[in-house]
Amino acid sequence: MIKVLVVGAGFSGSVVARELANFGCKVHIIDEREHIAGNCHTERDEKTNIMVHTYGPHIFNTNIPRVWEYVNKYGEWVSYVNRVKASIDSGVYSLPINLHTINQFFQTNFNPTEARKYIKKLASKDYPQPTNFEEQALSMIGRGLYEAFFKGYTEKQWGCSPTSLPASILKRLPVRFNYDDNYYNSKWQAIPKHGYTHIVQNIISHENITLELGRSWDISDNDSYDLVIYTGPVDKYFNYSHGQLGYRTVFWEKEYGKGDLQGNAVINYPSTNQLFTRIHEHKHFTPWESHDQSVIFTEFSKETEQGDIPYYPKRLSDDLEILSKYQEEIAKQTKVKFVGRLATYRYLNMDAIISEALDLSDIIKASLKIDTMS
Ligand code: UDP
Repeated sequence: MIKVLVVGAGFSGSVVARELANFGCKVHIIDEREHIAGNCHTERDEKTNIMVHTYGPHIFNTNIPRVWEYVNKYGEWVSYVNRVKASIDSGVYSLPINLHTINQFFQTNFNPTEARKYIKKLASKDYPQPTNFEEQALSMIGRGLYEAFFKGYTEKQWGCSPTSLPASILKRLPVRFNYDDNYYNSKWQAIPKHGYTHIVQNIISHENITLELGRSWDISDNDSYDLVIYTGPVDKYFNYSHGQLGYRTVFWEKEYGKGDLQGNAVINYPSTNQLFTRIHEHKHFTPWESHDQSVIFTEFSKETEQGDIPYYPKRLSDDLEILSKYQEEIAKQTKVKFVGRLATYRYLNMDAIISEALDLSDIIKASLKIDTMS
């Protein structure tokens, strides 16, 4: 029986573990935390019984049929549309930027065609091929909307100038010329009825899988296995030999109250007048439940220091240089596979993570089949 070690019990590790267990491998998962599901972990708040997304809100959304089918095999999902608001000095606005935001912000009554024309006029023509976040934003929406909704937020979240960040970060957000205020464009958008940890628990519940929590990985662990699936930080795997990759981390101030504290699950604070980026009121992520109490998490962002949990890969040019050195090392590995956000150092949504984990599992299964045939 092929023995597999999976390092990390988040979505990546759990999906590969399950696929290989189904295939007949003996899989052992280790995770340094005391719980599974990685940063998607959810648990009931002790005081209020509200389902809390411990490491920040996760709203599952995907266009990939295989991924949607996959997650539905492991638990019940409830459709959920994320409607985010932005609070700035002049008022509360609708996000992502849509016709309502435009009409509120410019105090106009534009229809879609008028708004499109107006924004086109405001959009900068200086960057036919935007090379960074700021150029991308100025080319899409012009300076006024950029400075009100993106500049300060991005500086706070990423701790650097938007001119040093890739344009791809902004491309995550749509700009719409209708009143659709759904934060995502994806075909399927949902939240697991009993939380993400419940889904991951179901994924890894298999007779061929064993789990060890509170257990850090060490390179010598690899010796006892035929195959290692590593989902931790790639620089850590190589003992930071080529340097440390930059990440932003986030932390929260938690506050309790009665009733409805902000009237919405997420309100962003793009202005630099506040130090935090957004406030989450977790009970609004489960509108099918009823809670008299409430708990809100005010989110701050900072540079990752020793012991902090890495969240957002910064991918600045220095980071990409370091990354390429680690990628050379990865190419030399024969029995270790690197998968997921931290191991590939990319800003990936949950669905992309599951999709890549399924693809990797297919490749591994195909190669194991060949090995057993030969
Ligand atoms: N962003 C912003 N203002 C907002 C929301 C987002 O400037 O009100 C920028 C910010 O740089 C962020 C990026 O858009 O990193 C992508 O936003 P998204 O909501 O996808 O970020 P996530 O939920 O992954 O933190």
